[in-house]
Amino acid sequence: MSEYDLLVRAGRAVLPDGERGADVAVKDGQIVAVEAPGSDLGERAAAVVELGSDEVLLPGIVDSHVHVNDPGRTEWEGFESATKAAAAGGVTTIVDMPLNSIPPTVDVAALEVKRKTADGQTWVDVGFWGGAVPGNVADLRPLHESGVFGFKCFLLHSGVDEFPALSPAEVEAAMREIAAFDGLLIVHAEDPDEIDHAANAGGRAYSEFLASRPRQAENLAIQHLIEQSRVTGCRIHILHVSSSDALPLIRQAEADGVRISAETCPHYLTFTSEEIPEGATQYKCCPPIRESSNRDLLWEGLRDGTIDIVVSDHSPSTADLKHFDTGDFGTAWGGISSLQLGLSAVWTEARQRGFTLTDVVRWMSRGPADQTGLTHKGRIAVGADADFAVFAPDSQQVIRAERLHHKNPITPYAGRTLTGTVRSTWLRGIRIDVAGPPRGRQLTRGE
Ligand code: ZN
Repeated sequence: MSEYDLLVRAGRAVLPDGERGADVAVKDGQIVAVEAPGSDLGERAAAVVELGSDEVLLPGIVDSHVHVNDPGRTEWEGFESATKAAAAGGVTTIVDMPLNSIPPTVDVAALEVKRKTADGQTWVDVGFWGGAVPGNVADLRPLHESGVFGFKCFLLHSGVDEFPALSPAEVEAAMREIAAFDGLLIVHAEDPDEIDHAANAGGRAYSEFLASRPRQAENLAIQHLIEQSRVTGCRIHILHVSSSDALPLIRQAEADGVRISAETCPHYLTFTSEEIPEGATQYKCCPPIRESSNRDLLWEGLRDGTIDIVVSDHSPSTADLKHFDTGDFGTAWGGISSLQLGLSAVWTEARQRGFTLTDVVRWMSRGPADQTGLTHKGRIAVGADADFAVFAPDSQQVIRAERLHHKNPITPYAGRTLTGTVRSTWLRGIRIDVAGPPRGRQLTRGE
């Protein structure tokens, strides 16, 4: 019997205190030793893997914003295709959103349906968010106790009728209940009245669509949520921040002691409204991709820590719902498909702006792990799960949507050249083989 199951020798590894060479020893799926290169740990390991000179060992990406849509809308995605795509993209943990699946995850019975559905179909680890909808305040605590990581709500139509929005009074009631057990409310923050009053022309011009989802709708919603969090003491997380105008609000709230965190997504950091062609509804998401100057300010929000994490908001649909025949942004499904591409997309932009892989890991591995309480994920440290992405940061790839594991070959990244490729992904010390049997586990908050 060897002392270790595996030793990974990495000339470059992103560790909690920065990037350096490391020998990482694994036993029973956990990291049990991290030493400087040239250690004798390998003599005591059953297997030794040596990274190439162009490769960096990263902790597996934790993507806490994924719409798997299973059960109920499996033609959009599903646990098998989603988790294979995740694995191919260096993602070792996903947390599934409560909506677009049928039933939505708004009570314990629905959570059980989702868990049964996912069982035996996941190539990476999967956790679940619950949902806060009108009339389910009494379901929130039981869901919390059943292990969901928090509760998502909308302030306006979610896109699917079975997951209705909360009114301001209902948000406050949900916050009071969630604060009582120190849970977390995660919010799609766009104000319904602002959207109702905005121009809403529809049609093929992206500028018209952008005008229909103004920054002010996000700013105002976030402002209200901050006030409600102040009153109730509820922890809140702002999903997919797109309006850079909202960053000073979030920064000030944090300074005031409001328990608030924020995320943005690879597409807001990559694309600009100026470049989106007419009718190109693969770029449609809500809140929308905004101007180039806005994108620069989101990067500044990451630099100064106002935005804590970067997660995909992978929200695919079938091609017919994207209405490519008419190219009408008004009627097309709002959601961007990118689960497999998040790491490369963010790295492509980040490196040009002077960021390091240590920054990317903070935003995409450790940050989301900490945010969901999965402190045994997202870091290369003794005691953590041996979840790794072997990343070649200088290698380039041209994205071909049909070669991705996503169920529907639709993504605005198609045809783009991204820098950085994932060479292999490891879950609890074993290389993930998407052609082999699934080894993903279901994760429960607090375990
Ligand atoms: Zn989403």
